[in-house]
Amino acid sequence: MQTVRNTKEILTEAGIEITPARTHILSICMRSSTPLTVEDVAIKVGTTAHLATIYRTLEKLVQAGLLERIDFQEGKFRYEYPHHHHHHAVCECCGKIEDIEDSQTEITSIENRVTKESGFLVTRHVMELFGLCNKCQQKGKQ
Ligand SMILES: [Zn+2]
Ligand SMILES: [Zn+2]
Repeated sequence: MQTVRNTKEILTEAGIEITPARTHILSICMRSSTPLTVEDVAIKVGTTAHLATIYRTLEKLVQAGLLERIDFQEGKFRYEYPHHHHHHAVCECCGKIEDIEDSQTEITSIENRVTKESGFLVTRHVMELFGLCNKCQQKGKQ
């Protein structure tokens, strides 16, 4: 049970109490390849009866810096374990989410310009792209 031990270590390192719900939900997010909604997590937990509890647990993990909360403008948040920093491209037709690698040079040049122009110190960024995936574009042409 390598994953369970790791999640416990991660919670301890983040300085928050280890609870079965936290280790379970953290390991679900770590194993998922796409950002999950509260409902997605509830289905994987195996109960949709405690959405509020699952939501609170996810938010606690965000506060502890272990998960990232992402807003794809769907009227609900998604949660993701940041294995490595990247961005997303979201298809507004089918909802498919693709990972986009961060281009340090381009983003850094924007951050530097902001700092130069307004003196604002950028410490992090979130960037999501919206549009149509390849499949949905093909569908539109038929
Ligand atoms: Zn699509
Ligand atoms: Zn980035």
